[in-house]
Amino acid sequence: MFNKVFVEKDQKDLAYTQGILSRLPGKFELVEIDNLDDYWGRSKKPYLQKREKLNLYIGQKKGELVKEAPFAYGYGKEKHFYFIHAYNCIYECDYCYLQGYFQTPDLVLFTNHDAIINSMQEITNKYPDCWFHAGEYSDSLALSHITREWDKYFDFFKRNPNAKLEIRTKSVNVKVLLEQNPLPNVIISFTLGSEAHTKNHDLKTPPLKTRLKAMQKLDQKGFELGIHLDPLVYTPNFESDYQHMLQELTKHIDVTRLHYVSIGVVRFTKDVHKEVQQNYSDSMIFATPMNKSFDGKIRYNRPMRYWMMNKVKSLCIDTGIDSQIIYLCMEDDD
Ligand code: SF4
Repeated sequence: MFNKVFVEKDQKDLAYTQGILSRLPGKFELVEIDNLDDYWGRSKKPYLQKREKLNLYIGQKKGELVKEAPFAYGYGKEKHFYFIHAYNCIYECDYCYLQGYFQTPDLVLFTNHDAIINSMQEITNKYPDCWFHAGEYSDSLALSHITREWDKYFDFFKRNPNAKLEIRTKSVNVKVLLEQNPLPNVIISFTLGSEAHTKNHDLKTPPLKTRLKAMQKLDQKGFELGIHLDPLVYTPNFESDYQHMLQELTKHIDVTRLHYVSIGVVRFTKDVHKEVQQNYSDSMIFATPMNKSFDGKIRYNRPMRYWMMNKVKSLCIDTGIDSQIIYLCMEDDD
């Protein structure tokens, strides 16, 4: 999986780090470093090199461990924060914003979960009903069988029943979650697209069918679930494709139990748009014109975005999803 693993000297002998190293598959060269910030992303590495040569860095997250989320980030009126437990991802969605965000596709796994949790406690003391989100800079579960950090976070949310956690994923790696007892304030949210969308855009991710099966296992064990239908990419069949996907969803989970459904249309910052054009010039994303919109991001035009989101919203309502739990993601308010 990784060519080289760089580990911070003072973190190397921790039981947590040793656990990660022992669970990493394959052979790799282990390199000790003083501080990952002096190495990771210091020189530009083309994003698509992740296909052949991917390195891993293990060390402490410095600086801000938990950040306030931007406007319209999540469900509800409470304050939203996200915490950072890793950088980069083993999957390769062609629209992924990480490709223009970091200088390198090399992964980082952070070791200081206790410090992250302390920071979350301080925030929770101030805003008891707040939300925390995992998965902003990586997939939350893709490597969870190696990192095994989730038991610490479940303990925190058991002690803080008013605070809420969203674990965002496209992975089917749910074994570590199934070892936990479900909590009403921990929501596992799956990003889903139609089967065609998943094949064409969510490269190297688990197929739609296996994602639905993973959701089914969690639903049957009583976990709270959410869904992100985001990003929608226009194709002539997009409506029937999403209708079929939602019908399949109802065969796997009880959609009336869903916590929330977010809907969003593909969008990029200028830098990410440039990078995506360079890396995936044949993507269907570019078959429909996109322009700079209200917040400087590059999107389809506004009538098109709202038409797409409202189509998918009606399809959700037709399958029995309560309209009150559906929200439009990262759009202006009016
Ligand atoms: S799963 Fe998320 S983080 Fe990973 S490549 Fe896809 S969009 Fe990026």
